[in-house]
Amino acid sequence: NPLNGARYLLAAHLPRQLPPDDGREVAFAGRSNAGKSSALNALTGHNRLARTSKTPGRTQQLVYFQVADGRHLVDLPGYGYAKVPQDLRSHWLDFINGYFRNRQSLAGLVVVMDIRHPLREYDRQMLAYATDRGLPAHCLLTKADKLGRGQQSQALLTVRRQLAAQYGDSVGVQLFSSESKQGVDEARAVVAGWLAL
Ligand code: GDP
Repeated sequence: NPLNGARYLLAAHLPRQLPPDDGREVAFAGRSNAGKSSALNALTGHNRLARTSKTPGRTQQLVYFQVADGRHLVDLPGYGYAKVPQDLRSHWLDFINGYFRNRQSLAGLVVVMDIRHPLREYDRQMLAYATDRGLPAHCLLTKADKLGRGQQSQALLTVRRQLAAQYGDSVGVQLFSSESKQGVDEARAVVAGWLAL
């Protein structure tokens, strides 16, 4: 597993706290409860890696995990951002906007979506950030184990069509389950490829 070396590095709530912008990184986004922490754990093979991102006060930060020298996974906050005060929210949106616009190290975006509730407003916003920059994105339809095979295929087909119509081939999508480990190898290969590992 090329991602197994992942270790917590730092949490940043201001641009100047980010690591030097001279490596490669893959960002992970997802609505809260979508299954993003579980996906990060499954991909890295660590049980509690992404727990760090959930400690109170960290929900408005970018959490960095170092996989290898200059290679990072970045956990973007999962929101609840409707709940945060207006000034904090606009600070946060500025930060995220700037991050997507300027971060040279950013090689790709993974969007984690509950297979039963795909492509919500938040997901579309995140995909727009990446594709506007010309960056590739990859969607994980997670908790696939909650559906039968037929429903899984149907959901995949529907999302794939919508993504193709809107973004062409710059956004991929696959079935995923942190529970059954379905799709973990496939997703890991995408991330490792973006990190050039
Ligand atoms: P996050 O808020 O996006 O980081 O979501 P979590 O990873 O904490 O997951 C939210 C809830 O969904 C937890 O109760 C997880 O156990 C559950 N969950 C996450 N991934 C899966 C999955 O692939 N299958 C199933 N059945 N449950 C999952």
